Amino acid sequence: MNSFENNSSRYIGNDLIRFLGNDVLSAAPEKEPERQHYFIAQLKALGNPGASDAQDQSHDADVKPLTAAVVTFGCQMNARDSEKLTGILEEAGYEMTDDEENADFVIFNTCTVRENANEHLYGRLGRLKNMKKSHPERIIAVCGCMMQESDEVAKLRQKYAYVDLIFGTHNLYKFPELLFMLHRKRLGMVDSLEAVHAGNAVLTDSSADHERYEKLLRYGGNTGTQKDLEKLYRKPVVSVWQDSGDIVEDLPQQRKFPFKQGINIMFGCNNFCSYCIVPYVRGREKSRTPGEILEEIRRAAGEGVKEIMLLGQNVNSYRGISSEESVFMSFPELLQKVDDLAEETGIERIRFMTSHPKDLSDELIEVMAKSKHVCHQFHLPLQSGSSRILKRMNRHYDKERFLDRAAHLREAMPDIVITTDIIVGFPGESEEDFLETLDVVEKVRFDAAFTFIYSKREGTPAASFDYQVDEADVKDRFDRLLELQNRIAAESLERFRGETLPVLFEDVSEYDPMMITGKLENGTTVHVAAEPEDQQRLIGTVRQVRLEESHGFYYTGSLV
Ligand code: SF4
Repeated sequence: MNSFENNSSRYIGNDLIRFLGNDVLSAAPEKEPERQHYFIAQLKALGNPGASDAQDQSHDADVKPLTAAVVTFGCQMNARDSEKLTGILEEAGYEMTDDEENADFVIFNTCTVRENANEHLYGRLGRLKNMKKSHPERIIAVCGCMMQESDEVAKLRQKYAYVDLIFGTHNLYKFPELLFMLHRKRLGMVDSLEAVHAGNAVLTDSSADHERYEKLLRYGGNTGTQKDLEKLYRKPVVSVWQDSGDIVEDLPQQRKFPFKQGINIMFGCNNFCSYCIVPYVRGREKSRTPGEILEEIRRAAGEGVKEIMLLGQNVNSYRGISSEESVFMSFPELLQKVDDLAEETGIERIRFMTSHPKDLSDELIEVMAKSKHVCHQFHLPLQSGSSRILKRMNRHYDKERFLDRAAHLREAMPDIVITTDIIVGFPGESEEDFLETLDVVEKVRFDAAFTFIYSKREGTPAASFDYQVDEADVKDRFDRLLELQNRIAAESLERFRGETLPVLFEDVSEYDPMMITGKLENGTTVHVAAEPEDQQRLIGTVRQVRLEESHGFYYTGSLV
């Protein structure tokens, strides 16, 4: 029997008041992230009934730790958020599991870039309905970009009323506090309207309910009918902020790979490409201060991190205010500082994504070319090769600008690997427009391309554009693009075959347990044979590898 099963059978118990009472809530520090660290400690004690209070770390060995599953649906920034959710849950005493159907706590970190991303979530939630019926004490939470869309939150509350906790992207750092609120609510302790207006827990949307709960609050938890409390128990905690000024990092995190770390340098996007929902769910651009970013990198280096990825929806428009000189720092300036710090602290590789061609400056290319640790890999989303379509996409650059930037990158770093994103079938795209895209692909010779068929995204301007392209034409164009791009990718991979280059080994190959997998400095995947007893010793290290064979998108080779 784990701790919550016995707790959940004591909805009305003074025991848990020790960890969830009003005095515990009011003792929480106001300042962030200290406030969240405080709630993490309370949650940890809550999962450990033997503890006298939050400071008591002794643990009753007979009590099985609670299990938690974090499901990630989206991009690198979404995955970075999941590392934080995992770190917080582990710090709060949960044991991580991949078994979302039997976990005591499961959280879905959603994506909403494409319409079908939402359907993925509903499919997974549907599978948990019966589990929740038989285990009402278990917790289901949903967060991420999709929750920034009020109609999706409304749909969730209507059709999946068994979801217990809903929050968005702007207040992810409040996760410990919201989980604490959820446990308080399960004990009949609801928070006041003030808390609601302060952007904390929103429990209900009907004033009648509020009155009832205010009454409960006034009489302190142990009143009201069992039915009231049952109903309250099932009410979700919903907290979605439309935007937030605060960037609160420095919370526990669990890296997917101990030797690699994503570092958020900015959030949000001001570009409003006509097909993209991101600016509506991630808000306006906000850059972290250079000091905070460099401090986080220094800490990561101290914990053995060898590779960092600077993350942002559009890193090129980074504008961090440095507290010392109170001047704005541009991305090339920040990257130079990061490269210097890497030299000092033993970080071997620096990567960054995502860049926008309109903001790709000569300074940035120069810093990369001269740097010691910035990888010669560049992800430069093209989307379309037609200047007419780029205008309809509101991308703020044309075909010539893109070709110029790509040529400048190759000139400055001949060994650079350039990857891209391409959308086929954008509303209004003609055969001539598509031929422009093929022309750019021929000229730039991308090493890899993420290719997408345009999918209408409600809530974006392009969703109401005329001239939706005929499906058969889109399919035909998509196949022609793939054929050309795959041929070019295979040819450009040949460039390095036979060379000996450094590889950072990341994991055992998921296709062959007798192989380990790593990445070249330019981001290309390499598989190398390694005996099981050597694999763990090699993973997380950079070793010289002779690239013997190329296979379209990756190499196989041998250790030198
Ligand atoms: S740059 Fe455009 S595509 Fe990228 S996140 Fe911003 S709006 Fe979306």
